[in-house]
Amino acid sequence: MIVNLESKENRRGEDRSFNLRKYFSLFSIGIILILTIVLSYVAFWYQKKALIDYSISTVEVMAEHFQNRIYDDFIATSLETYGYLYIGEHSMKSEDLDKIADSYLSLYSDILKFKIFDLSGSVVYSTDPEDVGTVDTSDKLMSALNSRIASKLTKLTMPAKGDAAGNEKSHEIDLLEVYVPIYRDINNPSQSDVIGAFEIDKDIGSFFKLMKSEIYKIPLMLIFSMSVLHMFLQGVVKKADNIISKQKREIERHNAELEEAQKRIKDSIEQVIENGSFHIRVQGTNLIKCWEFKKCKQTDCPGYQSSDLRCWQVAGTFCQGGAQGICVEEYGDCRECEIYQYAFKDRINMIGESFNNMMALLESKHKELGRLNEKLNELVHIDPLTQVGNRRSFQKRMENIHLLAIRYERPYSIILCDVDNFKLYNDTYGHQKGDDILTSIADTMKVSLRKTDEIFRWGGEEFVVILPEQNLSDALRVAENLRATVESLGLEHKSTDSGILTISAGVACNIAENVKYISWETVLKQADDSLYKAKSAGRNRVHPAMSISGTIISENKRA
Ligand code: GH3
Ligand code: MG
Ligand code: MG
Repeated sequence: MIVNLESKENRRGEDRSFNLRKYFSLFSIGIILILTIVLSYVAFWYQKKALIDYSISTVEVMAEHFQNRIYDDFIATSLETYGYLYIGEHSMKSEDLDKIADSYLSLYSDILKFKIFDLSGSVVYSTDPEDVGTVDTSDKLMSALNSRIASKLTKLTMPAKGDAAGNEKSHEIDLLEVYVPIYRDINNPSQSDVIGAFEIDKDIGSFFKLMKSEIYKIPLMLIFSMSVLHMFLQGVVKKADNIISKQKREIERHNAELEEAQKRIKDSIEQVIENGSFHIRVQGTNLIKCWEFKKCKQTDCPGYQSSDLRCWQVAGTFCQGGAQGICVEEYGDCRECEIYQYAFKDRINMIGESFNNMMALLESKHKELGRLNEKLNELVHIDPLTQVGNRRSFQKRMENIHLLAIRYERPYSIILCDVDNFKLYNDTYGHQKGDDILTSIADTMKVSLRKTDEIFRWGGEEFVVILPEQNLSDALRVAENLRATVESLGLEHKSTDSGILTISAGVACNIAENVKYISWETVLKQADDSLYKAKSAGRNRVHPAMSISGTIISENKRA
């Protein structure tokens, strides 16, 4: 027997599982850190940009406001002097303007400077007297002189007030410079009417300070939210991990069961197939009659004849103990067969089919065993020459009938028959002829009995008949009928006076009243005694064990 089971290692494969939670933790912490840094930077950058834009627009709005007032306050001052709108070196009466400018500077916090330019870019007025007369050629001023408000953001290092020790200190400020055009007629502004520009310098560092003081909240919020997310995802991963572990345990349990089932199949097959004449491949095949596919029909293999057999059994692994058939010649090992390969794509099918194969084999063995049992039963209970029950089966049956008779208080009778002068017959016609005659007599008696009566060969040329439910008078009639039937056969027996073969019979009955007291062996003995009497009286006759009147046999009572 070939049992080819795949190894445990191969079947289970490598354990490639990994700790998802562990990998997730390291990974997620890394991601959170990177995200926090990137998002903080982006958020800071956006906020700063938004603040700058806001500051610029605020100062520009302020500048627009100034643009209106410049006429009322500054230009009006020039008008008063020269009678027309003009901005130039001498148009600005700085002592008057200083008062106005001071009020502006005190009104608008963080305005550091206020300047007025003429069309050439010269500073004609500034809150810082040192600026007056200097020329600004920056793009921003040019834009303003071309009728476009412009602004720029710069860092400026400003001297700070000295400390107690008198040390000079400086600090950096974020300076926003806004350049605004001045039109001759504010109500009708056009590029050709630009007569100069003014500049407002404003420190917007306080905005940034505020932003910086708040900015730490962004990464904190991010860290907090990411931590919450992380904890949530940890929970999810833990749950998933549990499910995976549970499924892993299930798979392991199934594997163990499969292994156990395979072992049992293997053991069972080994137990069933002990004589080595069967060659089983546990890989088996499906219920496919591949001989039909592979045109194996020409084979005279007896395995092919049986519809119980499977492809692999015909295809060289089972056929009277040897590999036979066209399939084998053509394909050899049936695992090479394409049908086999098609049928077994997975292990479950394979095990299932192996089990089916084992069951099929068990079934065929079971049938074979049944046939052997029947044969054995025949040998044990049937007389091989006459084909009637033998002495062993008579005893078994007799015990059964006797017990039934006791239970229901019913009678039964026994007839013991013996062929007359049979020794002489053998001597005259030979033992073989004697055998034939015994068979004929048995057949004759069998057919002349009722279905409920049973005949057995007691031994030699003697037969015993059981007659359930029958009293002596009935039994005597049956016995007489048997005797007459044999006589009527007219079988030649030339060595006797009559010239024909006859039988004698002794009859005994266990009547209902006695049945619980008298054993069947005693009744048989009475029949035997009666037979002896029949022989003594001249043979070819029937003799009863008691008178027909049914008198109870007193000497046998309570035997
Ligand atoms: P009786 O009328 O007194 O019964 O005389 P008998 O010759 O029949 O009696 P006996 O018991 O002396 O002989 C029985 C013979 O039956 C002996 C034996 O040769 C023969 N016999 C027994 N069994 C068989 C058998 O199976 N086949 C054959 N051919 N003869 C058998
Ligand atoms: Mg005899
Ligand atoms: Mg005899």
